[in-house]
Amino acid sequence: MSDRHAPVSTPASTGPLRRNRATSHVLHRHTGDVLPVAVGGEGCWLIDAEGRRYLDASGGAAVSCLGHGNRRVRDAIMAQLDKVAFAHTGFFTNEPMERLAEMLVEGAPEGIGRACFVSGGSEAIESALKIARQYAVERGDLARTRVIARRQSYHGNTLGALSATGNTGRRRPFLPWVIDDVVHVSPCYAWRHRAADETDIAYGQRLAAEFEHQLRVLGPETVLAFVAEPVVGATLGAVPAVEGYFKAIRQICDRHGVLLILDEVMCGMGRTGYLYACEADGVAPDMIAMAKGLGAGYQPIGAVLVSDAIADVVLHGRLGLMTGHTYMGHPVACAASLAVQEVIRDDGLVARVRGLDATFERLLRDGLGARPEVGDIRGRGFFRGVELVADRTTKRPFPATAGLAKRIKAAAFDLGLICYPGSGTADGIDGDHILLAPPFIATEDELALAVERLGQAIDRAMADAG
Ligand code: PLP
Repeated sequence: MSDRHAPVSTPASTGPLRRNRATSHVLHRHTGDVLPVAVGGEGCWLIDAEGRRYLDASGGAAVSCLGHGNRRVRDAIMAQLDKVAFAHTGFFTNEPMERLAEMLVEGAPEGIGRACFVSGGSEAIESALKIARQYAVERGDLARTRVIARRQSYHGNTLGALSATGNTGRRRPFLPWVIDDVVHVSPCYAWRHRAADETDIAYGQRLAAEFEHQLRVLGPETVLAFVAEPVVGATLGAVPAVEGYFKAIRQICDRHGVLLILDEVMCGMGRTGYLYACEADGVAPDMIAMAKGLGAGYQPIGAVLVSDAIADVVLHGRLGLMTGHTYMGHPVACAASLAVQEVIRDDGLVARVRGLDATFERLLRDGLGARPEVGDIRGRGFFRGVELVADRTTKRPFPATAGLAKRIKAAAFDLGLICYPGSGTADGIDGDHILLAPPFIATEDELALAVERLGQAIDRAMADAG
């Protein structure tokens, strides 16, 4: 299988191009080494300017759910460009935006009736929070300002979304700016936090009780919303909630007039084998934030789906919708996203992911499960996490200073595999995991190759660490 790593011809128009991050004029994420230049993509593979091929087993960060180079999406983008590239939503609606909204709402959980389109996940979360607040204001519920989210979560990079974020490492530098009105409760993370003598159901009920207790401490009439990912991605590594947890949370929210906002930016749009990840939990939220797989990387796009009950109050209120961005509902982004979602529907890709759920899990368990540093393998569908531990019995994590996940990412990249590293699994600082989120079109051979290369990368990273 390793011959897939062989060089292919480089597109002539681009030519070999290398950029040292220290000397480039781009403000890159890090400095120091040489970044390969991405010049091509086909299926599950990315190709750099020197002809190296990388198996994109994480879709970057769970973005490229259709893989690269999809012609139908490309054609939809070109066709939209031939019609109109941009028309401000303050003046016009546009066809792909209307059709995309219809399609998303049609498959959405009960009560969801509207979609507001933005350019990414952070904007989707910001919009959800602002719509929630507007809903409260229009109803005269002015005391509702507080948001409850969960520790070790990630909800985005902008200051409102970062305020909801519980992951210590991502928040800490910006603490003076994050808003105080967000309180964090325990994540639902059974493998690490369920007591030895506790059932999953009892653990979920315990966490729900903690949430309700926190509501009472704050005063339920001051709480606007609860924000959570159905399957936690970047910060924990594909951790679904235990059975019954979200149902209990929904009931508590209803009891106290608190809105339930689910962040499906990473886990939504088919990634877990369900179009909406919350389907597996049997709950209907008041709002769903989405991005990543919505546009599959063909264009930047995010959305917040809103219940009719909320949309009616906000739209018929005194203020109108008070969250807006220049590029919301961008026609080309919506055309790309509409084509992505049509391919997913027409090719039965959500069912395909669900059908390969057990296969992918078996490949991971057979390939990695016996390794001493692999503590847990979890997830749903094509959204899988591998947690690494220094001691399997005690689940003791590697220290953050060892940077293990990042070293695995680098070793994997060297081996021609793209996987997504994460840290802070143990206490928000220490602990490592690797996320795999391959395109929905990945073959069984490609899934197997991803697992094989990840194993090799773990070996290399462990050997480097001495
Ligand atoms: N919410 C979740 C769960 C995410 O994983 C991310 C990004 O990784 C975001 C929000 C922010 O999305 P974006 O990077 O598109 O702003």
